Amino acid sequence: MKIYVDFDDCLCETARSFSVLADRLFGIKVPYEKMQYFNLQAAFQLTDAQFEELMVEGHRPEILLSYEETPGAAAVLNRWIDQGHEVSIITGRPFGTFEPSRAWLDQHGLERLPMYCLNKYGRENFMKDSGFSLELEDYYKMHFDYAIEDSPSAFRFFDHLPGLQVLVYDRPWNREGELPGANYRRCGNWTEIEKIIL
Ligand SMILES: [Mg+2]
Repeated sequence: MKIYVDFDDCLCETARSFSVLADRLFGIKVPYEKMQYFNLQAAFQLTDAQFEELMVEGHRPEILLSYEETPGAAAVLNRWIDQGHEVSIITGRPFGTFEPSRAWLDQHGLERLPMYCLNKYGRENFMKDSGFSLELEDYYKMHFDYAIEDSPSAFRFFDHLPGLQVLVYDRPWNREGELPGANYRRCGNWTEIEKIIL
């Protein structure tokens, strides 16, 4: 099987880190469970300047390296690779964060996993002079059987693959409304996900 895996809030606890950061930088207290919007500016009700400061701070290498692993993620991904599945990390992180992101994967035993930066959210302006490692036209040439993704904003990148099974990692910001199709299902943790992809 070919498997697409998102990075933030699928492999690691990014939103929990941003919740701590918003409190530290601005004294804004929005606990993870109350983060109802995927858009961090909306989730924390930030001004444009505060949002930019949060994004710059949140993408510093030492912050990126400090993210907690989502329980079980690395073990499941390594078992899939051992079984012959082709697993790719397709992240919306800016290309400028590639090195620390790669280092995080390596430090968590995921050296065998390829990682591609795809401009999912139009955030490239936060990292000057960065390009995209994966152009959209090249992404659309890739095929996947399964995708693991938490962000409703990224679901549009699955529309060209009607046979794709999308496993939505359950997070507070994706609980509103219905999932977009019968090929989407919600998963609460990596144990559940592993039972689906054997
Ligand atoms: Mg994500």
